[in-house]
Amino acid sequence: MADEPAGHALVQITAPNGVTWTRQPRGISSGPQLLEALSVLIRMNSDIALIWNWWEEDRHEREHDRVWRILAEWNNGAGQREHTDEELEAFEQRWCKEADRKVEEDKTRRAELVAQDYDEKRADSRRQLLRKEADAAFFQHVIDAPASAAQLKEAARRRDESQAEAQEFRRQVGNPDDVLDNRGYLPAERRKQHLDEHVRYWRYPMLRELRQKDRRRFKTLLEMPVLDATHMCSECQAPIEWHEYDLTLQLFRARPARGSVAEKLSVLMPGWWERCPASTAYQISHVWGGAHALPDFTGEQWRGTLPPLLRAIFVPSPTAKKFTPPKPQPLATVPTGPIADVMAKLQELQATYPTAEVRQGAHGRWELWPAADEAKP
Ligand SMILES: [Zn+2]
Repeated sequence: MADEPAGHALVQITAPNGVTWTRQPRGISSGPQLLEALSVLIRMNSDIALIWNWWEEDRHEREHDRVWRILAEWNNGAGQREHTDEELEAFEQRWCKEADRKVEEDKTRRAELVAQDYDEKRADSRRQLLRKEADAAFFQHVIDAPASAAQLKEAARRRDESQAEAQEFRRQVGNPDDVLDNRGYLPAERRKQHLDEHVRYWRYPMLRELRQKDRRRFKTLLEMPVLDATHMCSECQAPIEWHEYDLTLQLFRARPARGSVAEKLSVLMPGWWERCPASTAYQISHVWGGAHALPDFTGEQWRGTLPPLLRAIFVPSPTAKKFTPPKPQPLATVPTGPIADVMAKLQELQATYPTAEVRQGAHGRWELWPAADEAKP
């Protein structure tokens, strides 16, 4: 459809769902702009690729306003007349009631699923399986760039051990993707939710913070390729690959219950409670020490195993400031004043610094500097 000036001809466009839209006489947006606005409206709450970089505080609101400004210029023949306040209120009430009904229905359905299919032991074995796989991957990264022969040998032993344990858990669990959690959610549903949370509650705040503090890391994170749900951990808001490096994002984890074993363990092993159960637990083993720690393993080596993107995001630039030699200072200064006072002061200083040079400094004052040869290191 051609976009002709309002008043000359009817401007219409048919959306992919077959609905024909007609532009209001004073509208200025084009047909393709309307279609784009409709598409954004449908996707803006769920399409992660679309909202991946909508990190600015008001970005979602701006997009919402922009889309509705365009939509207000068109009509599709439905609901042409103005509604009364009572009608709108009744509509809102119906809508809320319907939404509540759906939530309740979903809760009931999930409770039934839990009653029928939830198996605590199987769910726990599934988490152990994920952890053993992450452990095996972690030790493989060490094997790829070992710090010593002793480390290589031990890492290979532990990789093999983790793989064997993972295999045993896999045998017990069967298909890990059909294991319900205790709320009635499948791993695929949780991954989808975690991706959304990753973007809104980690990526956006992180980008806002880095924008102020560290432009290099900001740019790196901004350019991070878009994730999809299959990249995510089903147990936390981190991509599953991060767990191979002991990086986790448990964004909404409550503190352990007071007086519980978990609380005691969290005190004994800092980081244990905050860690995702699907992640390698190497860091905690390392802190625990003894046979749990790989020989010769250091934080520097860990940083070296990180892929460039993770290193850039999680390893802050060294804070060591560039060496800037101090600005040279004169040995002494003599402020401007009556000539007799200046001469007297200079004579006095000459006795202290017999080899110094007298130079004219800023604001007419006199400065005593080491002679050129002496100033050299
Ligand atoms: Zn996780």
